[in-house]
Amino acid sequence: MPESVYNLLTAHARAMSLVLKVAVPFPLRRSFDYWPPAAIDPMRLRPGIRIEVPFGRRNTVGYLLGVGENESLDPAKLKPVLAVLDDEPLLSDDDRAILLWASRYYHHPIGEVFATAFPVHLRQGRSAVTESQRVLCLTGLAGAHALSGRAPRQALLLQWLRERSVPLQELAALEWDWRGPVRALIDKGWACWRESGARLSPIATDMSQEGDSVPLTEVDSTVPALNAAQQDAVGAVTEALDGYRAFLLEGVTGSGKTEVYLRLVDSVLRRGAQAMVLLPEISLTPQLEALFRSRFSVSLVVFHSGLNESERCRSWLAMQRGEASILLGTRSAVFTPLARPGIIILDEEHDASFKQHEGFRFSARDVAVMRARQLHVPVLLGSATPSLESLHNARSGRYVHLALPERAGASVHPTFRRIDIRNQLLDEGLSPALIGQIGETLARGEQSLLFLNRRGFAPTLICHACGWVAECKRCDARLVAHAGERRLRCHHCGHEQAWLRDCPNCRTADLRPLGQGTERVEQALARLFPQARILRIDRDSTRRKGSLERMLERVQSGEVNILLGTQMLAKGHHFPNVTLVGILDVDGGLFSLDFRAGERTAQLIVQVAGRAGREERPGLVLLQTRQPEHPLLRRLIREGYASFAEAALAERRVAGLPPYTYQALWRAEANDAQLPQRLLKRLCELAGDCHPGEVQVLGPVPAPMARLAGRHRWQLLLQSPRRRPLHGLVEFLVQRLPLFPETHQVRWSVDIDPVDLY
Ligand code: ADP
Ligand code: ZN
Ligand code: ZN
Repeated sequence: MPESVYNLLTAHARAMSLVLKVAVPFPLRRSFDYWPPAAIDPMRLRPGIRIEVPFGRRNTVGYLLGVGENESLDPAKLKPVLAVLDDEPLLSDDDRAILLWASRYYHHPIGEVFATAFPVHLRQGRSAVTESQRVLCLTGLAGAHALSGRAPRQALLLQWLRERSVPLQELAALEWDWRGPVRALIDKGWACWRESGARLSPIATDMSQEGDSVPLTEVDSTVPALNAAQQDAVGAVTEALDGYRAFLLEGVTGSGKTEVYLRLVDSVLRRGAQAMVLLPEISLTPQLEALFRSRFSVSLVVFHSGLNESERCRSWLAMQRGEASILLGTRSAVFTPLARPGIIILDEEHDASFKQHEGFRFSARDVAVMRARQLHVPVLLGSATPSLESLHNARSGRYVHLALPERAGASVHPTFRRIDIRNQLLDEGLSPALIGQIGETLARGEQSLLFLNRRGFAPTLICHACGWVAECKRCDARLVAHAGERRLRCHHCGHEQAWLRDCPNCRTADLRPLGQGTERVEQALARLFPQARILRIDRDSTRRKGSLERMLERVQSGEVNILLGTQMLAKGHHFPNVTLVGILDVDGGLFSLDFRAGERTAQLIVQVAGRAGREERPGLVLLQTRQPEHPLLRRLIREGYASFAEAALAERRVAGLPPYTYQALWRAEANDAQLPQRLLKRLCELAGDCHPGEVQVLGPVPAPMARLAGRHRWQLLLQSPRRRPLHGLVEFLVQRLPLFPETHQVRWSVDIDPVDLY
């Protein structure tokens, strides 16, 4: 557009000094002002629409936060927006409210928070309306204007548009070049693209295919009758479908939580609403998706990292438009807009993968609860081993506590037994008692599951002559020996190198792998049980797409006798034939710097144990430990997870740790060894100046892994019994931090409610 026309058309807006406040997807904790587009009344632009703007030397897609007074000092420096990408915002006011809340709560730049909520294609500015649906329409501005004879094609288009809206497909069939004239009309603000047809109503989308109003295939004989506990749980949530309420469903493994979810989804669908079901990445298996599909005749979409970007975008838009009624998704799906929100269900709520570990460090669990509150719908958090945070919320009445204390169907609880491995001769980490049990299980034709949370062959490669140890040059970590490929790998930064033959220190050719990883135990099992079919499941053996699914099928079919793996095995899977579970190294988890280590270990033990004896045959769980009298372990085994959790909560209260206090962890890292510490010290002094009162400032200290990928890492922990002063202090520090010169070379982040201090 010629500059003169632009000046004329924006004169009005400029005179009133009205500008668009735009969030741009960069780590900047503020919005930016732009002149509204030519000929569009800025007051007609709705917050939340996507807008293309110039930023620095390039163009980017930003999000309109609102229209307001120009706050920049020099209006002459303001730039106009390049294009308005949406007529209607893709996010509702409620959806936006959550993003604004999340940006404040996590102290994260608003533009990046908005970007997280959108699938990549929409972030890149692609149209949210698929080509076949696009219709060219008149805007309200076109009415009074006439066109000069110099633009006959625009005049012709305008005449058509006065009669009716024209679908893109019709334009595409024209003989002449219509794109230029259409562009001109849009630039004038007289015409715009819209989506054809009204939004599909829930009835039209969901029930038309079946021609009846029952989404659940209720007559199906595979649908079990609910037991009493399941009925109570379903009843309690169903009664609360009209508004916000949070529920914690604590159901032992195999108690039929999934059946509760299915019934609730059914109730929600019958009301014409949508259900969002969130799971940890690893639990969203094709089997689960198939189960949901087999039970409902409505449109269901999935959203996880295994999909490509077009598929993710399609799922997102289907929920946003209300074309789909069920969303099965992982962490990042929590922001998906819902046209008719009905319920949010989050399974395995204790799982640490619901917390994003970098960038925008949100907790999908906590966001789900806030979203449900904003949307006035219930939220259900389910787990066999709830986090201490959620148990605390249940005890204090913020969540309604529902319990499924017994396994559904015929299966019974497994028996736990500790194996004291002190002074025992172990064969590659396997005690004689465990080996004996594996043999017996094999003889009965049943499956064993062995758990070791350490992949590779051995965690250490050591020189037998001089004691030299292979370490990563860039991290404070040892290189893990991988025998299959004869490589040494750092599991933290990804560095890898060939397996060494000679010791770089003393030149002796006697380097020995020390300790056991899954590869090594697999070899030992093959030697001990040559007739058995052994399967190892860990990140290395399942790298190829679809391989995990194929392996799980082999387990289901009964082909595999001994199953060995890392925590990939602990989650959600159902192995009907497994009757023996062996946990090779319980102690590793008991001794860690992280105060959550005990909780994690207990959850892991219970979850792994939960894979056993899920059908009629009872399961046996063997725990190898050098600490058989460890109070946590004893309590967990004798009295169960609930009792353990009670004791753990009491300890946390005494120690003044979460959930009785709130934390924010400041991380700083740089190539320079001094700068991170210096920056955090300054922060510490600043915190002292602002009299935090109730906020404890702990540190700075080196991070547990003080060097990672060549960068030196430090951290500072803020802790308070109340949220408000903690967040006040974080906000104060976030605002002032950029003033320090160190920030040019130090990468820093603040992690609200950190779940690991790594
Ligand atoms: P969870 O998710 O609590 O570990 P699942 O939902 O996977 O448990 O259920 C475990 C098994 O019990 C499944 O095979 C499921 O079909 C079955 N099941 C669930 N509810 C019932 C019920 N009321 N009666 C009989 N079997 C049931
Ligand atoms: Zn040596
Ligand atoms: Zn490394």
